[in-house]
Amino acid sequence: MPYTPYHFGPSGFVGLLFRKRLDLPVFVLANVVVDIEVLIINWFELGIPTHRYAHTLLIGAVVGVIWAAAAYPFRKVFRKIMRFIRLSYETSFLKMVISGILGVWLHVLLDSIYHYDVRMFWPSRARPLWRLLSHSQVKTVCLISFAGAVIVYLVLAMAYNKSKKLPSENSANEKEQAK
Ligand SMILES: [Zn+2]
Repeated sequence: MPYTPYHFGPSGFVGLLFRKRLDLPVFVLANVVVDIEVLIINWFELGIPTHRYAHTLLIGAVVGVIWAAAAYPFRKVFRKIMRFIRLSYETSFLKMVISGILGVWLHVLLDSIYHYDVRMFWPSRARPLWRLLSHSQVKTVCLISFAGAVIVYLVLAMAYNKSKKLPSENSANEKEQAK
């Protein structure tokens, strides 16, 4: 999709729902990484369809692994950002790799419905998902899942705040009782 932000709905929603199994930042940012291919093909005027190799399950998985390896040294930065936006964050290299691959695959899945030039099963030319949904239906799915992601996020962030507040409240109560 030339509109990378549209992908933040589905990936944010899925990533938040499966946050215990996935590395949320790696999973969501995989959408930006895979669309660098579109930028490069356009920028250098390569004259080939803009969704080519990164937009396949096979090479896409390799892109996901490379992205995870590149992101791994920044896990402490991700932790700080996650704490800032009030979400818990536990990660590992394996989690990042799985999230990188699945993040790219979810992107490829959506793009293969939306864009004719995506050959998801490359080297096969099969396009079984093309036009499974119309353009406006895909966009609607993206927008609805974005709204869903916002709701799940707010619930989780409130729960996080509550869990961080409790210990200090408890210790305050204990101090009260000690007096
Ligand atoms: Zn794309």
